Amino acid sequence: MFGISSWEITPAGRYKLLRTKVSKKGTCQTKYCTNPTVTERTTGGDVNRSQCYKCRSRENRANNPRKYAWRQLQASAKKRNIAFNLTIDQFKSLIAGTNYMEQKGKKAGCLQIDRIDQSGDYSLANCRVILAEENYQREIDRKAAAHNPCDDLNPF
Ligand SMILES: [Zn+2]
Repeated sequence: MFGISSWEITPAGRYKLLRTKVSKKGTCQTKYCTNPTVTERTTGGDVNRSQCYKCRSRENRANNPRKYAWRQLQASAKKRNIAFNLTIDQFKSLIAGTNYMEQKGKKAGCLQIDRIDQSGDYSLANCRVILAEENYQREIDRKAAAHNPCDDLNPF
C-alpha cells in the first residue's frame, strides 16, 4: 500500500510520512500502512518504534539521500568483490559540485562513479564522477584489451 502514502515536510524541513489519526497498538502509524512496528535494539535496551521497518527506512532515505546513495555504492562494490575504502564524508566531497544526486542512473546522460584504475578500489583518490556512456565505453575497452584471442581456439 505504499503507492498511495503521502509525505509532509516538517517545519524543520524533514520529510515525514503522513500518520494515521487513530493508532492501533503494535501497528505502523504511517497512513495506510498495516505492518507491525519495529522493535529496535539499542544500547539502552529495546525501543518500540511507532513505525514499521519499511516506513522508517523510507523516511531515513528521504532525509539522507546521500547516505543512501553511498550505501548503495558500497553494496554494489561488495557484490562485485571490489574493495570499498570510501567514507561517507569522502563520498560527499567526491560528488560535491556535481549533479550526481539529481542525475545518477544507468542511462546515457546519467552520472556514475568511475574508478580511474579499474583494478583498484573505491577510494577518494581512485574515484571520479563521469557520464554513464563514458563509463560503459571504458568497460568495453577494458574487456577488449583483456580478451585473449587464443581463448577462442581452446576447445576446453
Ligand atoms: Zn509502515
